[in-house]
Amino acid sequence: MKYIADLHIHSKFSRATSREMVLDALACWARIKGIQLLATGDFTHPEWLFLLKQKLEPTGNGFFRLKNIVPSENEYLRPIPLSREDVSFILSTEISFIYSKNGRVRKIHLLLLAPDFESVDRINQQLSGLGNLRSDGRPILGMDAKTFVKIVADHCPQCVVIPSHIWTPWFSLFGANSGFDAIEECFEEMTPFIFALETGLSSDPPMNWKLSALDKYSLVSNSDAHSPSKIGREANVFDTEFSYSGLVDAIKSKDPDKFLFTVEFFPEEGKYHYDGHRKCGVLLSPRESMQHNNVCPVCGRKLTIGVMHRVEELADRERAESSSFRVPYKNLIPLNEIIAQALEKTSDCKSVWDIYFRFINEFENEQNILTELDLRELLRLTPERVGLGVDRMRKGEVKIIPGHDGCFGQISLFEESVVEEEAQGQLKLF
Ligand SMILES: [Zn+2]
Ligand SMILES: [Zn+2]
Repeated sequence: MKYIADLHIHSKFSRATSREMVLDALACWARIKGIQLLATGDFTHPEWLFLLKQKLEPTGNGFFRLKNIVPSENEYLRPIPLSREDVSFILSTEISFIYSKNGRVRKIHLLLLAPDFESVDRINQQLSGLGNLRSDGRPILGMDAKTFVKIVADHCPQCVVIPSHIWTPWFSLFGANSGFDAIEECFEEMTPFIFALETGLSSDPPMNWKLSALDKYSLVSNSDAHSPSKIGREANVFDTEFSYSGLVDAIKSKDPDKFLFTVEFFPEEGKYHYDGHRKCGVLLSPRESMQHNNVCPVCGRKLTIGVMHRVEELADRERAESSSFRVPYKNLIPLNEIIAQALEKTSDCKSVWDIYFRFINEFENEQNILTELDLRELLRLTPERVGLGVDRMRKGEVKIIPGHDGCFGQISLFEESVVEEEAQGQLKLF
């Protein structure tokens, strides 16, 4: 079966998340986005786990489904047809590890997937004595990440550990501030238990292909969403048995017949793509910041080193090496952003969401609109600039001011001159 999976989100019990991060809203948004398999997030949190056990039932394949659908009160969500079969859930959580190793403080995030509640209970029991799982949906543990992997391997060998957003400067495996230079340095003898890495919003597969050390790992992409409308902004597209073991096999195999492609942000759009100092409005490429000794040319403080710089630092290849064994990828822009550009409005205003749901009601779901639908179909709905924007995105005709020091990159799809030329071209055609 072909399906789209988003394996990393957070519930309302995590810090800085929307109150709407609850199962009913998540199922509805997964249906809107075209996601068939969605992470539950936060299974280490006792209250969230209570809700998961109360509202979900196993479907016998290592995934879960809502016991019943509660119709939404929201004016946009109410008309969306949603059945229990539309969306499955996979048990997941993310843990933040802060500890010291080889003389340095390390802060890294790991994603954990589990096939059943028994595994979740065993893991939670092992961890509950080591930190406060109740304090946050993404708990902080003071233990060594390697020790954690050992606990998982010993108690739940079917569980999967995936280092999260491996390039972000804070809280990641290769993070410039408190990460490692090599996977083995972090996981030592437990390294073979790790077979997949999450690329994060600020990096895409080709950037990772510049490191031969990563060749043996499967690269996955997830949204890490903190609000429902952001789920699926990065995701994985599979064509394999719809089961926990089928999913794990497809990720492990890296077989492009089973793991069809990943859906990616344009990496420049991520918050930490380039180097910079936000307070001073300074944005630099890795080369430019090296010329400034990684110091802000305005205030003299240390620059925030971005993902691209860090990748260059650890890369052993001049350019990304592709091969037929690589899982392909597609760079996408969220539909509400495309509409916002088309209307010259902000991406979260009512007029944008009005049009967004007009498109969803007509064309099934967002992934279908962004990746599958024929342009002629899309142009049936007004404003035409939405369809044209999708087309430009698919062709990669996108201008982006790279994200840096915590600011998202700024995309522009429609440069005035180009749009005018296009309009004239259209006129000539008809
Ligand atoms: Zn994280
Ligand atoms: Zn500065």
